[in-house]
Amino acid sequence: MKDTATDTPEAFDAVVVGAGFAGLYTLHRLRGLGLSVRVFEAGSGVGGTWFWNRYPGARCDIESLEYSYQFSEELQQEWEWTERYATQPEILRYIEHVAERFDLVRDVQLETRVLAARFDDSANRWEIGTDKGAVSASYCIMATGCLSCSHTPNIEGLDRFTGPTYHTGRWPHEGVDFSAVRVGLIGTGSSGVQSIPFIAEEAEELVVFQRTATYAVPAHNAALDPEYQRNVKARYSEFRKANRQTHLGFGSDYPASDDLAAEATPEELEARYEERWARGGLHFMGAFVDLMLDAEVNKGAAEFVRGKIHEVVEDPAVANLLSPEQVIGCKRLCVDTGYYETFNRENVRLVDIGKTPIDCVTEKGVKVGEVEYEVDAIVFATGFDAMTGALSRIDIRGLGGRSMKEKWAAGPRTYLGLGTSGFPNLFIITGPGSPSVLANMVPAIEQHVDWIGDCIAHMRSAGLCRIDVAQHAEDEWVDHVNQLADATLFPTCNSWYLGANVPGKPRVFMPYLSFPLYVAKCDEVAANGYEGFALS
Ligand code: NAP
Repeated sequence: MKDTATDTPEAFDAVVVGAGFAGLYTLHRLRGLGLSVRVFEAGSGVGGTWFWNRYPGARCDIESLEYSYQFSEELQQEWEWTERYATQPEILRYIEHVAERFDLVRDVQLETRVLAARFDDSANRWEIGTDKGAVSASYCIMATGCLSCSHTPNIEGLDRFTGPTYHTGRWPHEGVDFSAVRVGLIGTGSSGVQSIPFIAEEAEELVVFQRTATYAVPAHNAALDPEYQRNVKARYSEFRKANRQTHLGFGSDYPASDDLAAEATPEELEARYEERWARGGLHFMGAFVDLMLDAEVNKGAAEFVRGKIHEVVEDPAVANLLSPEQVIGCKRLCVDTGYYETFNRENVRLVDIGKTPIDCVTEKGVKVGEVEYEVDAIVFATGFDAMTGALSRIDIRGLGGRSMKEKWAAGPRTYLGLGTSGFPNLFIITGPGSPSVLANMVPAIEQHVDWIGDCIAHMRSAGLCRIDVAQHAEDEWVDHVNQLADATLFPTCNSWYLGANVPGKPRVFMPYLSFPLYVAKCDEVAANGYEGFALS
């Protein structure tokens, strides 16, 4: 990656880290502004999340007509989704189609991991070091994803286990054959909930190790009605606009309600929860506007779901164990197809590791207390070092050589989730402090990329070459993000939103609550000459 004539690192206007939904659209947008761009991607293909998460049953739990790009009218008109919720292979095909259609691949360097990024103050450029060499760029854009850095707990004895181990977020591309295999699976978040029914179908035996029971709402997936797809496409821009205005970030045709559960009668509550349950999916959390604000209201919704679990699971003791106690929604709600039913199968066992944690992994299996569960393979559905994990694994150094990891030691600090003070010309797509994981990721990504694109276009036309976050704007934003979260029930449990799933990670609520408010704020900041940023 060196200019052979001068022996200096190859120079670009922008370097983008990651070739998932965010990185690819950034490349397209910046190329459209006339910038030279290089994208680095660690994987051997594009797709990010959808490249890596190939576990059995992987699919998106936001509906396919909403979980897709809107930047190209032709693309959104021509692409045909086949199911209400797209599978991982279908989403990956879509991303690959986009990469090809917009001729993006030629600027993506695959199998290249970015290891370091250092801002050279005198040259006003980023020097980006990869495992294949170094380049430099005026802008460094982190499109590294919120859930891209897998987390495998450090369980004693794991290295002596004689069978294979897998992580749902790093699933082998050739797939795994579990027939005649006794599988132990740790983790019952979205990845566990999706993969458990599939693994149970195939494996000889499945032992599920559950630390915290999870709330799962039925997906009611089905083939996408062609008439409905045509109907949405006929009004796609209106449909997308509605998407931006709902506080859940999705549900254009079935928005979150503004009604207060605290003002509803018991019959109205029951009817509303039943209606949302029958509709399926994450819409359940949109039943009432005070569901994440009022602990009593939340208890009612939680009780409703526990009732459903008991209707499905035949053994009352297993049903009890599968019934969560925490606030519903404070860990991300799961969307399932046959999850609870799976625990009625003869070949599935549920082991409570909430009260008695895993003691160790042995050569032959997993030991909990005095009991050793013999298994041939272990699946870790144990999630991610979310939102900051991928960034903290890159040695990012800003003004004066200051390390971002050190700056964020007590928790991430950003302005709008887009940038952090002291790191000029560095943008983060869906960074901590932006709605990201609490919105619909693809529109959230597009909103960020468009904002950054507009900002860079403004700087170029005004002859400006440096943008940095003002310290006071960052401090105020961090306080504001926390205040919003503290007014809700979100901080009440050990979720990955808080970093609580990774031992030693600071407990800070990372996403911004409310996509519509956030978009309005970003628009206002831009309209006021990038208020809160210092441009020079
Ligand atoms: P997750 O929600 O963080 O779930 C991890 C699971 O592993 C939890 O049950 C957790 O228990 C358990 N666990 C973690 N460390 C453990 C340990 N040391 N010992 C025992 N158990 C441990 O991860 P995920 O299921 O991969 O999902 C992460 C996020 O990715 C989701 O919330 C969602 O946003 C996204 N996702 C979306 C989809 C979809 O669209 N359908 C699918 C998959 C993932 P505790 O609860 O006790 O911590």
